[in-house]
Amino acid sequence: MTSSTLTLVAARSRAHGPTAALWHAVEVHRVLADLDGACELTVCGALARVTTERVWPADGTDVCPTCAVLAR
Ligand SMILES: [Zn+2]
Repeated sequence: MTSSTLTLVAARSRAHGPTAALWHAVEVHRVLADLDGACELTVCGALARVTTERVWPADGTDVCPTCAVLAR
């Protein structure tokens, strides 16, 4: 399995009740400009809004632990 052609971007989920908003990873198969601000399915299966202002891997403490493992 190769990830050489796979691009990952960071996407911000919305806060859900007690769950804080987290950064997720989204696999990009399209031009990034088409994705900015779009809601996409993340690596962990959630929906999050893609931003081109951040790159994956996101740093900090508010990163989705599932995405951090799956999208290393
Ligand atoms: Zn995630």
